[in-house]
Amino acid sequence: MQFSTDERFAKQLDAEDPLRGLRERFYLPLGKDGRPLIYFAGNSLGLMPKLAREFVDQELDDWAKLGVDAHLGAKTPWYTYHEPLREPMARIVGAKPVEIICMNSLTANLHLMMATFYRPTKSRFKILMEDPAFPSDTYAIKTQIRHHGLDPKDALVLASPRKGEFIVRTEDILELIEKNRDSLAIVWIAGVNFFTGQLFDMPEITKAAQKHDILVGFDLAHGVGNVPLSMHDWNVDFAVWCSYKYLNAGPGAIAGAYLHERHATNTKLPRFAGWFGNDPNTRFQMQLEPEFIPVTSADAWQVSNPPIFSMAPLRASLAIFGEAGGMNPLREKSVKLTGYLEFLLNQISASAARTSKRFTVITSSNPSARGCQLSILANENPKELFKELQAAGVKCDFREPNVIRVAPTPLYNTFHEVWRFAEILGSHK
Ligand SMILES: *Cc1c(COP(=O)(O)O)cnc(C)c1O
Repeated sequence: MQFSTDERFAKQLDAEDPLRGLRERFYLPLGKDGRPLIYFAGNSLGLMPKLAREFVDQELDDWAKLGVDAHLGAKTPWYTYHEPLREPMARIVGAKPVEIICMNSLTANLHLMMATFYRPTKSRFKILMEDPAFPSDTYAIKTQIRHHGLDPKDALVLASPRKGEFIVRTEDILELIEKNRDSLAIVWIAGVNFFTGQLFDMPEITKAAQKHDILVGFDLAHGVGNVPLSMHDWNVDFAVWCSYKYLNAGPGAIAGAYLHERHATNTKLPRFAGWFGNDPNTRFQMQLEPEFIPVTSADAWQVSNPPIFSMAPLRASLAIFGEAGGMNPLREKSVKLTGYLEFLLNQISASAARTSKRFTVITSSNPSARGCQLSILANENPKELFKELQAAGVKCDFREPNVIRVAPTPLYNTFHEVWRFAEILGSHK
């Protein structure tokens, strides 16, 4: 697409945007001047769907009116509250409903998946991760390794960017897999990296690892609701994600887990169990000495009864994804929105009458190797630049030592906001 720096062009793109009405579904935080902030922080905490209040209120009302009877008698019965989330969530990650369970938080789900899938043996005990991974993933994986009496120095393999580069090359990941083909137990990589915005080649990595009987899991925290995913068709073994970033389900919202059908229906797999993973028909046989009988679906990994108040807003959010027509139309707009941002940033760089570059976009310039986020490395006074952006009504974030992450999201951001952001950035001295 041919972009232009003309403000009217940005307004034209908004006028032609078939998804423009979705912005109305969200509360937009206001700046000091009473105008909506340019909210490019949806990669950190997505905005509140207006309907979320209604969904939470409904549950509070049912609690007030019905007490314990709301488990079965609420408008959406609490006992099975995870069930209506299953299908819309399956559509977003490209899975079969039987492969999906919404539960807990991301890191807790990662530990639950590792309890099932990380069964190190003398010869196969390594885990491959990308570098830098999100800290929580690193803590979780290192403690998993130690939990089995192993040392991360021997068991953790990191796929890092080459010297002077920021993106991890797929060929380097594939080479590490080949090199450790007999000792890797698991490949655990982000779908989209939190720092650089890199979209990994998930099908390629999965194929390469599974060829050597290595299990493959993805952390979809920055992938879900951002890029189209096909967990089942890519044959991915397992995945987990949180729902408060691009899924807009609120702080600490219920997270999700995917297990491929062949695992989800395998009742013989080891797991950490709780009563809500048990077959509902025998769940309440408390007088007997209970033997765990797993549900033959991803539900078998559900440990506890569903936390209703952290699930209700997700239902409001998933309804908006339904209204958008799913991930494909959103991705189409997202590619345009982020492409426009990239174009404007390149214009600023090109017109800067200076020899040194003030900033560098470290995210790939290839749209199929990124989601909506661009990570901007500020070469001079990064903290001052970030402060100026904040003062001008931009909400984005800063990652040490010098990276500003901006994530225009197709659900509620506009082309004109991208244009205004570039104006602000361009006027920075
Ligand atoms: C946001 C994020 C998390 C957060 O973990 P919680 O358990 O939800 O607190 C973990 N991993 C990655 C890659 C993330 O981006």
